[in-house]
Amino acid sequence: MKIYSDMKRLTMYAIASNLITEDDFDYVVNRLSNLLLIDEYMDQSIGYVDVEEPSSLLAPILDYAHEIGLFTPNTVTFRDLFEAKIMDIFTPRPSEIEHVFSLLHTQDKQSATNYFYNLSQKNNYIKTARTSKNVIWKSKTPYGEFDMTINLSKPEKDPRDIIAQGKKSSTSYPQCLLCKENVGFYGNATHPGRSNHRIVKLLLNEEEFYLQYSPYVYYDEHSIVLKKEHVPMNVTKKTFIRLFDFIDYLPHYFLGSNAGLPIVGGSILSHEHYQGGRHHFAIEDAKVLSSYQVADVTVKQLFWPLSVIRLESTNRGSIIEMADQIYKFWEQYTDESAGIYAFTTAPHNAITPIARKNGDLYVLDITLRNNLTSEEFPLGIFHPHPENHHIKKENIGLIEVMGLAVLPARLASELPMIKDVIVGDLEIPQELDIHKEWIKELKQTYQQEDINQFLNDAVTLKFVKCIEDAGVFKQNVDGVNHFNQFMEALINVLN
Ligand SMILES: [Zn+2]
Repeated sequence: MKIYSDMKRLTMYAIASNLITEDDFDYVVNRLSNLLLIDEYMDQSIGYVDVEEPSSLLAPILDYAHEIGLFTPNTVTFRDLFEAKIMDIFTPRPSEIEHVFSLLHTQDKQSATNYFYNLSQKNNYIKTARTSKNVIWKSKTPYGEFDMTINLSKPEKDPRDIIAQGKKSSTSYPQCLLCKENVGFYGNATHPGRSNHRIVKLLLNEEEFYLQYSPYVYYDEHSIVLKKEHVPMNVTKKTFIRLFDFIDYLPHYFLGSNAGLPIVGGSILSHEHYQGGRHHFAIEDAKVLSSYQVADVTVKQLFWPLSVIRLESTNRGSIIEMADQIYKFWEQYTDESAGIYAFTTAPHNAITPIARKNGDLYVLDITLRNNLTSEEFPLGIFHPHPENHHIKKENIGLIEVMGLAVLPARLASELPMIKDVIVGDLEIPQELDIHKEWIKELKQTYQQEDINQFLNDAVTLKFVKCIEDAGVFKQNVDGVNHFNQFMEALINVLN
């Protein structure tokens, strides 16, 4: 039977990828046979399988499993659930991974994350066949060179998934997509398969956290750090201590927190978590508008679309104390002429803190945020404005604060159509209606240069406008004056 050779190919891949060793061969083949309801396994002679990732090896096994009725409907969602269960057979248990990770960490910190990241890709928890389809480019802006991404690795729901889910009552376990109880969880039509998902324990501020990788990798080694308990996001002094404990433990990674308030926060506010990883972001090279020295901390005001204060010191204790003072000062700060109100019926001021380490130097970027809404801007005054929603409407989280755009998947099909309209000087079709005004402008400025570059740069400049909208002090003469006033008042308090 062909299924025997398919099983053998996958097993040989797992050996070549160091997920298992040759000594595990009989064990994994027996477990796989049992999963696929095969009574006996007939070895097929395949010595070596040379593929980078397992999707082509898994496809025929998933077809077989569906044909014999192991899952239905045959949608991407349900194939993914069963696939995770297959790959779980080739994935070490959580405690084994933790053991290897901490052993490697004592020798070389980077080798520990290399091991865990590689494993998360090889066992197809991170589906590289899908993430490689993401659209990525870089464009120059007045603030530096931005990273632009259109993420296509999240599969879209099939109507059959929704029908399948309709038959089952929803459960509250695990409580959310981040909870540690997702490890090994089979999943369902609305909850992705986590059978092959693994996390590694961390101690931050003497509290238990876990490190995992994002399955959708927005950038290199995109990590998520989640709290053991399912408790809401909340930025406090403890947040700074946790961020610094993390970058001391893994100094080659950055770690940041989204604000704890809606509109200016991330997409999951219900579970305390941070995002980190290993990537050089545009914000790291931002120009400095002014710089102050307060004891052993350098305080910098950045030239950036959002309002960012950078703290630098070799003394982490000093930075933590100062960050806490700045946060408390900002929480109470009102500047009516700039439209900033700390309170109405609820508090509005928040921060997005991001920590990293350059050698011995600790760096903490604090972005000032405000979630006030108005009749004109019901989604947020300091949020992308309606005229920019055709590019980005979602919250501006810490990844975008750093100069990496995560754009909606629809743009991957809309941008080629827009290219045709501009190059061919065509009428704007109805499906591009949301981009109508923008396309008119682009048609006027297009001068037969390379259309791909032209359009990429135009999208980037629109994205810059989206995050400028999220800035509390604007980068114009008036806005910088307000920012300077804030900085002077702040430095007085810090001194
Ligand atoms: Zn949770």
